[in-house]
Amino acid sequence: MEYLAGFPNWRGHIRHSNPRLDEFKAVAVSGCIGIMVIDMPDAPLPRTVLGTFGYSESEIEKEALRLQYAIKQPMRWSIEVCRSLAPMTLEINRLKKEKDVFLIAHSYQTPDITYGVADSVADSYALSKEARDSPNQTILFSSVRFMAETAKIVSPHKKVLHPSPDAGCSLSDGITAEDIVNLKERHPGVPVVCYINTSAAVKAECDVCVTSSNYLGICKKLPGDKLIFVPDRFMGKHLQKSLKGIKEVVIFDGECEVHAEFTGEKIRTWRKNMSDHGIDLVVLSHPECDSEVLDESDFIGSSELLKDEAIRLASQGKRDLMLITECGTADRVLAETEDHLNLMGSCVMCKHMKKTQLEDILQALKDPYPEQIVDLDEETIRKAKKSIDEMFRLT
Ligand code: SF4
Repeated sequence: MEYLAGFPNWRGHIRHSNPRLDEFKAVAVSGCIGIMVIDMPDAPLPRTVLGTFGYSESEIEKEALRLQYAIKQPMRWSIEVCRSLAPMTLEINRLKKEKDVFLIAHSYQTPDITYGVADSVADSYALSKEARDSPNQTILFSSVRFMAETAKIVSPHKKVLHPSPDAGCSLSDGITAEDIVNLKERHPGVPVVCYINTSAAVKAECDVCVTSSNYLGICKKLPGDKLIFVPDRFMGKHLQKSLKGIKEVVIFDGECEVHAEFTGEKIRTWRKNMSDHGIDLVVLSHPECDSEVLDESDFIGSSELLKDEAIRLASQGKRDLMLITECGTADRVLAETEDHLNLMGSCVMCKHMKKTQLEDILQALKDPYPEQIVDLDEETIRKAKKSIDEMFRLT
């Protein structure tokens, strides 16, 4: 038996097939468990097909089955939905070959992109390396703007396409190059570390760029007993705690609007409710969450590490897991393991990440609008590249 459930204000769902949870569902429906309600999430609707692009019925059927098998969520990604997407994925994959384009997608993109058309899917760190090392002269980056800019910085001679130019990020959009200049004036000589979720202009003013996979290690290696970390205040606080007594860490007031929605209280409630039903929950969280959430977690890591750890735990028979991050990570875990697992709790969708649709990718491949081609001035690229090269050197 399988249920889908979610918090009213935490968009997303839980997916489980655990017989012990039958009783839990019954309790939840009766309202005895305070914050949980059963709430069927919206499954993707079949798209209005733009056309078949000349593909035959059998080609479309075969592609629809491939998509459904790869995504591995037949309840949400029905065969009708996959059939309506199949002509677009076929056409995108054909155009990629014809135009020698390497299509990379962030883990938080929707499964029709990550499993339908992407050549590589990962978190921002791995993708920035792949964009740099790919032999293709055109990169299409399905993600938010700062990531496409990062691909351009590390591959300045390549053409970088970004299908959704208006897909921003609360972290990246919350800080400007001027903010960095002001911080440097207030703390002269102190190294400035910026999270990769920043614009090219901000990276250009910083000494070293970091990702959620390497920020702790790199900050430890920096010379001196003080550093400035921008823009994520939650990661900054985590850093302050980790480097206490070793380095002073000056932080900025930015936050990821997705990870800011999780609280320690919600995790404690879930743990207790599950424990009351004999379930020992393992909580895996992204470092962009509040330190109170991280304190309640059993494992902390980037989206890529969370996915790998969830798959590893499932393979060891540890099946009751809670992923505290954006919903795309759960989509990836479900697609990439054959083991049975119960994903509890909820995830939050990033409205910026989910802006990109297959239609935008198709447009950018066929005939990109000027805004879909990432264009940065040489000086910004040169300065920003220094901070990224420093990251590769220190990792
Ligand atoms: S999940 Fe958070 S950090 Fe990532 S793009 Fe969305 S707002 Fe930005």
